[in-house]
Amino acid sequence: MIRLDCTRVSIVIVCTDCPYWRAMRFTKHEAWKCAADHEKRTHPGLTQAQNAFTKHRAREGHAV
Ligand SMILES: [Zn+2]
Repeated sequence: MIRLDCTRVSIVIVCTDCPYWRAMRFTKHEAWKCAADHEKRTHPGLTQAQNAFTKHRAREGHAV
């Protein structure tokens, strides 16, 4: 499962299934997008990050 570690300056994306994998973004939108990409690539059966990204995108009104 993927979670975001938000600090004041950046957001670290952490995957609890992949201790060696880390990513960093500066917005939640980018962070969840990155998380969803990782999930798609590495955990094809899971949709947790993809769902969070979709929900976040809807809330923010991003037209991607
Ligand atoms: Zn992972």
